[in-house]
Amino acid sequence: MRTTETLIVGGGLSGLYAAHLLQQQGKDYRLLESRTGWGGRIASATVSGGIHNHRFDLGPTWFWPDFQTQLAQRIDELGLEVFAQHEAGDTVIERSLDGLPARVRGYPSSPVSMRVVGGMTALVDAIRQGCDPQRLIMGQTVHRLVQEGTQVEVHAQDGHGESSVYRADRVLLAIPPRLAIHRIHFTPELPPGLLQAWRNTPTWMAPHSKYLAVYDTPFWREQGLSGQARSAVGPMVEIHDASAPGGPAALFGFLGLSAPHRSRMSEETLKAHCRAQLERLFGHQAGQPSHEFLKDWAQDPDTATPADANAAGHHGTAPPSHPAEGPWAHRIWGVASEWSPQFSGYVAGAIEAATLGVQALGVTSEAAR
Ligand SMILES: Cc1cc2nc3c(=O)[nH]c(=O)nc-3n(C[C@H](O)[C@H](O)[C@H](O)COP(=O)(O)OP(=O)(O)OC[C@H]3O[C@@H](n4cnc5c(N)ncnc54)[C@H](O)[C@@H]3O)c2cc1C
Repeated sequence: MRTTETLIVGGGLSGLYAAHLLQQQGKDYRLLESRTGWGGRIASATVSGGIHNHRFDLGPTWFWPDFQTQLAQRIDELGLEVFAQHEAGDTVIERSLDGLPARVRGYPSSPVSMRVVGGMTALVDAIRQGCDPQRLIMGQTVHRLVQEGTQVEVHAQDGHGESSVYRADRVLLAIPPRLAIHRIHFTPELPPGLLQAWRNTPTWMAPHSKYLAVYDTPFWREQGLSGQARSAVGPMVEIHDASAPGGPAALFGFLGLSAPHRSRMSEETLKAHCRAQLERLFGHQAGQPSHEFLKDWAQDPDTATPADANAAGHHGTAPPSHPAEGPWAHRIWGVASEWSPQFSGYVAGAIEAATLGVQALGVTSEAAR
């Protein structure tokens, strides 16, 4: 059995940022991640263009430095380049299949939506650089936490069903609250009120699916179009320009079909409908992408639970991040984005919740003695 001071469950942005902060403080920690890659909901598709590989976001795309100042500062300190979402030009509106889609004047969004050069994955990579790779362990799904005296036993399994057990003074849960309850068995049980609050917290964007089409040039811009579109026909309801600066051009859209509806269709069929829609909205060239990708987050067990099939979930208020009393008090702390008081569910929330969780560890370790 391996022992550590702090065990972090989840290697998305929140878990990696918590690891980065503990590393800076010279603390002992381990991070267990179930996927075989880092970043969690921050995921990208890679396309080679010229001599470079270009990454396109399949998860989050935007941040808003006007009010997400902590995240903006981290991005700046890490030396990452940013740029504004391309919005110049007309928006296309598709109301029905009868008649042509309408063109309307586009308006710049306010506050301005910013993107990171290299995609949001560049942020994950930069933060991971600040962690000891020996302490980050992937392919380990945590399925059981047992409170044992002043410590927690953490049971994990790899992709071949092989088990590992760790012992930690404290556990930071860097996985969404609803997923934590769904995937991890707590012995003794968590307080019923906390259990209920975590179960009722929707995982932001888990019910959604994103389609991305890559082209050699942003031909729509030459027609005075921004690449933005809204559609009441679908399958995509909202479309944006996803071009990489100095790289290939791209359009992406969020599908409006529900997760159960999508699960009954093949990926090829969905892609064909998306291509046909892009052709209706942006012309013949749009139906001929050089690459296309579809990421259905509702089908991803490392993000979504069956309760996330319903897209009605809104950014709610963050649930309590830890048990205030009982055997789990001072032992576990939620640090995934959904636990962020200000930006629950957002990228900025992952940074905020991880910061608060690591700050609380100092206080917690005193109280737990
Ligand atoms: C399609 C989409 C679009 C989005 N758009 C935006 C946007 O434009 N702007 C914005 O601010 N936010 C956006 N978001 C939200 C943003 O992605 C999240 O807020 C953020 O990435 C959450 O990071 P996290 O580390 O808290 O959680 P996650 O990224 O969910 O990380 C959790 C990690 O835990 C791992 N894990 C799960 N279960 C276990 C287990 N049992 N054991 C070990 N590891 C486990 C997972 O594999 C994952 O790596 C979007 C999300 C999606 C899906």
